[in-house]
Formats: sequence, structure tokens, C-alpha cells
Amino acid sequence: MTESYVIIGDGIAGSSAAETLREEAPDADITVITDEGEALYNRILIKEFAKGKLPEAPISIHDESWYDERDVELSLNTHVKNIDPDAHTIETHQGDVIDYDKLLVATGGTPTQLPVENSDAEGVHHFWTFQDARNIKESAESGDKAVIVGAGLLGIDLAAISGAQDIEAKYLMRGNAWWRYALSEEGAEIMHNAMRDIGVEPVFGSGVDHFETDDDGHVTAAVDPNGDRFECDWAGVAIGLNFNTEILQGTGVKQDDGVVVDQHMQSSVDDIYAAGDLTRFYDTILGEYGQNGSWGSAKEQGTIAAKNMVDPESAEFRWVSSYSITHFDFPFLSFGHPTIGDDEVEKKYSDTEYRRLALKDGKIVGGVLIGDLAPQSAYKRLMKEERVVGDQKDVLMQKKFDPDELAPAQEQ
Ligand SMILES: Cc1cc2nc3c(=O)[nH]c(=O)nc-3n(C[C@H](O)[C@H](O)[C@H](O)COP(=O)(O)OP(=O)(O)OC[C@H]3O[C@@H](n4cnc5c(N)ncnc54)[C@H](O)[C@@H]3O)c2cc1C
Repeated sequence: MTESYVIIGDGIAGSSAAETLREEAPDADITVITDEGEALYNRILIKEFAKGKLPEAPISIHDESWYDERDVELSLNTHVKNIDPDAHTIETHQGDVIDYDKLLVATGGTPTQLPVENSDAEGVHHFWTFQDARNIKESAESGDKAVIVGAGLLGIDLAAISGAQDIEAKYLMRGNAWWRYALSEEGAEIMHNAMRDIGVEPVFGSGVDHFETDDDGHVTAAVDPNGDRFECDWAGVAIGLNFNTEILQGTGVKQDDGVVVDQHMQSSVDDIYAAGDLTRFYDTILGEYGQNGSWGSAKEQGTIAAKNMVDPESAEFRWVSSYSITHFDFPFLSFGHPTIGDDEVEKKYSDTEYRRLALKDGKIVGGVLIGDLAPQSAYKRLMKEERVVGDQKDVLMQKKFDPDELAPAQEQ
């Protein structure tokens, strides 16, 4: 009998799974269902579109013919409502019931709304989909002032969009530095200066107590917990993701702030796999469960899940992720899990050059590089090899880091 594979979500995790499934199972029935109105596009590039630097066309990755050519059935604008693991079926919002032998849940997340008054006002934008990018671009092109909230990797995209669109923006941060769990104040200062250079003013010890609106319900200002008022024509909020896991209710699939999967992307329920941003996966490098929200990691998880859906436990997810920012004159890259660990080492080399490594049990588990990305491959390799290097911080921080200068690896 022909195997039937169903994938929920056509982001990079779902789409790469479809591609691998077709390679590994040439005769299988493969269905991809997405509630978005467009097939896979490059989520990483939608910020360049919102900046006004890229037209729509290059952002699209697959058109519908990509699915036809691979004999993959694609359902756009279709929201999956629930999963019945006993019957091995899913149900769509139109009431269609689809059978599966193996199911992949790759539904990602939805941006979290600020739990404050008027956080759903017109002009308060969240940033996840191409449609969000179109809306942000429209606001940025017609407004003069913006407020940005969320001191992380997505918030800085909103700040960069403001800068590129000549908006005067206030970037409201709760703490005293941007991405304070991954960078020290010294490192963050490089980012703060870069923001100021493009007309985005970081405001520390701030945040949003509530938004004010006009009579039409459009945002006019953000008021922070100190009572300071920041006028704006629009606001961009990027404070995190809520994983799209409602469809797993009642399925018995184990969740723990994300869908728990092993290193094969297998969930706790037979024949249900998960991949991408929404997983809490067993990280074979860390030796514990971890999470990661990045394009490369989601793509690899989709590929690994597909291989295991065809041939159980045949492939393992073992991956050091990277996430780069290209908004400023200097490059920025974070890798692995820079916000965890029990030790760290950092060094600032100049006004635009900085490095920090997060260590756990003496091993590199993540890091941030600003200005000079040359040592990234060596650091990532050490992380993947799980090499104990925490006792050689001076060597690690040498400007021209050479892994050959590290003392030979000890047997463990
Ligand atoms: C603006 C922006 C910039 C980014 N920049 C970078 C970057 O520079 N580098 C990097 O590594 N990462 C970046 N990321 C993160 C990266 O894009 C994500 O980690 C990655 O896209 C996650 O892919 P995914 O397939 O897991 O989920 P998603 O891309 O979120 O895809 C999930 C899909 O499932 C659909 N869906 C959800 N629920 C249902 C349902 N019930 N029925 C049907 N369909 C459903 C959703 O609509 C969505 O299309 C960025 C993200 C954004 C938003």
C-alpha cells in the first residue's frame, strides 16, 4: 500500500521535509497544508522587503509548480483544526478529513502580544509573515515616528526597518542593554551606537505600560512604566513566540514550552513527528533538551524528520545553529545557545569588534561575534566536538584565534 505523509506547515521545516520525503519515498502520497496564502518564502528576507530594499519576487522560494513537479499536494489557506492520533486523521477548518500514516507538525509560532491596554490597536505591528512585512512597510513609508519593543534578534530587525525608512524611532528596552542574556553591556554598546547612527534611540529601564490611540483606534503613543510618553505613528513589537500547538490538544503529544521530540524528531506519540521552531528537541551536543529559533536549524530538523518518517531512527539531529544580522556596517553572528551556560569569556577588540563565548562544563555551547566573524567555524567545530576548552580562555580570545594553539584534547 502507498504510504501517506501529511505535513502541517509550509515554512522551511515543513517544506524541507516535503522535499526530503519525495527523495526518500518516490511513490508516497505527500500532502502539505498551510494556513498562509502563499507557498514557502524566505522569512529571513521579509525585513529587507519592509526596509524597501527588496521587491516581493526574490523573497518567494517556491511557487505552486514546485509542488506539482514533485507530485506534492499543496493546500494553501487551509487551517488544520485537530488531529486524531487513534484514527490517524487530521481535520481542516473546512471539515475535510485527511488520513495519514505519518504526520509532521511544523506549525512554528505566532508572535506574542504585549499584555497591555491597546496592544491590538491599529498600527501596532507584530512581525512574522510576509503579510506582516507588507503592513509594516506601509506604516513605515507613511509615518515619521515609531516605537520598537523587544530587545532581541527580531526587535533589532524592526529597528533597522525604521532606520532604513528614515523613521525617528525609540527602542524601549526593559533592561540596560540590547539582548542582555547573550551580550554584556560592553558588547551591546556596539549595537546601541549602531542603532543611534540610523536614528533609533535605545531607551533603557523602559517598556510599555499601555498604548494610546486616537478616536479611530490607531496607535498614537506608547507610555512606559515610568510614565514617559513616546509619540508614534506605528509600533513594532517582537517579544517572543507562542508556539502553534493548539492542534495537539488531546493527542497526548508531550509538550514542555514546545513540542518535545527526541533527536529523531519523533514526538511522544507514534507516527507524529515535529520539526522547526516549535520543538523542544533532545540536543545531542548539549546532552539535554534545547530550543532554537533559526532558519538553518528548522530546515535541518525538517530533513531529519522526513528521513525518520520513512525509515525510523535512521537520522539524528546534531546541529550548531547560526543567526546573522547584516543591518550595520559591521557583521554580527550568534551561534549555538549564547544565552545558556555556567561560564563565559568575552573581549572587546575595538569600537566595532567584540566576541563572547558561553561555556558549560568547560565546553563551548554558543557565542556572539561582532565585527570579525573569522573564528566562527573554529568555535562551531569545537562546540560540535564537545571539546573541553574552558581552561584556555586566553587562547580562545586571541584576535587571530588558531585552534591549533589549544592544548591537545583530553580523553574524557
Ligand atoms: C522577520 C524575521 C527575520 C528572521 N531572521 C532570521 C535570520 O536572519 N536568521 C535565522 O536563522 N532565522 C531568522 N528568522 C527565524 C526563522 O525565520 C525561523 O526560525 C524559521 O522560519 C522557522 O521555520 P518553521 O518552519 O519552524 O516555522 P514557520 O516559518 O513559522 O512556519 C510555520 C507555518 O505553519 C503555518 N501554520 C501554523 N499553524 C497552522 C495550522 N494549524 N494549520 C496550517 N498551517 C499552520 C504557519 O502559518 C506557517 O506558515 C527570522 C524570522 C522572522 C519572522
